[in-house]
Amino acid sequence: MNPLLNVDEALDKILADMKPLEGETVSLPESYNRVLAQDIVSPIDLPPFDNSAMDGYAIRHEDGAGASPSHPISLSVAMDIMAGSAPDRALEDGSAARIMTGAPIPQGATAVIPVEDTDDDWSKGEDSPPPGEVSLFRSLECGENIRLAGENIKAGETIMKAGAVIGPAEIGMIAGIGLPRVEVIRQPKVAILSSGDELVDVYDELTPGKIRDSNGYTLAGLIRGAGGVPIRLPIAKDRLESIRALYRRALEINPDMLISTAGVSVGAADLVRVVMEELGEIDFWRINMRPGKPLAYGTIQGLPFFGLPGNPVSTMVTFEVLVRPALAKVAGRAFQRRRIVATLGDDMRSDGRRTYARVTLKRDGERVIARSTGIQSSGALMSMVLADGLAVVPEDRTFVPAGAELEVIPLRRFSQNPH
Ligand code: AMP
Ligand code: MG
Repeated sequence: MNPLLNVDEALDKILADMKPLEGETVSLPESYNRVLAQDIVSPIDLPPFDNSAMDGYAIRHEDGAGASPSHPISLSVAMDIMAGSAPDRALEDGSAARIMTGAPIPQGATAVIPVEDTDDDWSKGEDSPPPGEVSLFRSLECGENIRLAGENIKAGETIMKAGAVIGPAEIGMIAGIGLPRVEVIRQPKVAILSSGDELVDVYDELTPGKIRDSNGYTLAGLIRGAGGVPIRLPIAKDRLESIRALYRRALEINPDMLISTAGVSVGAADLVRVVMEELGEIDFWRINMRPGKPLAYGTIQGLPFFGLPGNPVSTMVTFEVLVRPALAKVAGRAFQRRRIVATLGDDMRSDGRRTYARVTLKRDGERVIARSTGIQSSGALMSMVLADGLAVVPEDRTFVPAGAELEVIPLRRFSQNPH
């Protein structure tokens, strides 16, 4: 027997094989949550012109010098500038322009006095005509309430780098600078294969001896969450022809990655191994981790292939530890595993493999307390429903007492779990 392969070594081998996908051009609405394949350089200043930060009056600030509530200064209102309009002339000295938020500052104006600091009353409604004169109740600094052209960004500036994920602010900025299309990394298409004579789909009747395929759905969710596009194939029977046929079908959809579950242990019906060996270059790894010791990894016709163990928790944990970082690399997404340190609420036992124990997480002042979700069987998917994180018991530790600190991979934010 080969010695067990260290988890980190396995991940290093996998990551060395992964290549980021190429870019594709998509329309702006489609680009949301995608990874930029290009730097974004602004072709324009933003804002494109000096504009008012307030509803009020644009003036030359010198014309309001010394104004106060007891000594207001009156100016004639010579212009009326609405948002969306462009002033057709400069502001004359000694006069004011009524101006709306976002409207262009006329030439000559150096400050905007908010309407609240004047004798004008806009409660009458914005479409009422401007008064002939306006009284200023305070003086203004040069530039007050003026948003300068380019103060947000300047033409020629790089506002986002390739590799950035387009979130709400990013997509808004890209719209703001006027790019209707962007180049993003193609989303990896991932074919999912479940196999086993015991499996039926969620729509099918549950007859004696059968269970429903949960891995197919779990994997689809995990892949979608990681920025991939899952494609679930029909369930393969434990027969060579069935497995062969479904692998062929999986290849026909031209995926960027192939993930199967079950059939990689040494059971009598584990024919998946046989087919994998026919079709590709696959290693069968025994990884020093729990759950998830047996794992097939390699390439099938150049495609990265993962044969994950069939037990639902093993499927999820091996995905989390080994596939998620790989998929992130293919998707061009920066990946950094979040880890927190938690204090164990109960004693924890392990078997000397690196163990990913399902735990709940609760804040207790400065500390985070991790407690076992109860059942830790790799077949009990409920332990993942209950889990807020995976507590990592290092190799060669068989006992960790309550009160000790352990690293935890958080799976979600705390206190989300109503159980
Ligand atoms: P195997 O790797 O084929 O030995 O399967 C290990 C365990 O996982 C068995 O109890 C299977 O019934 C179970 N299992 C395999 N595939 C799935 C699946 N797609 N959904 C739920 N359980 C599964
Ligand atoms: Mg099986």
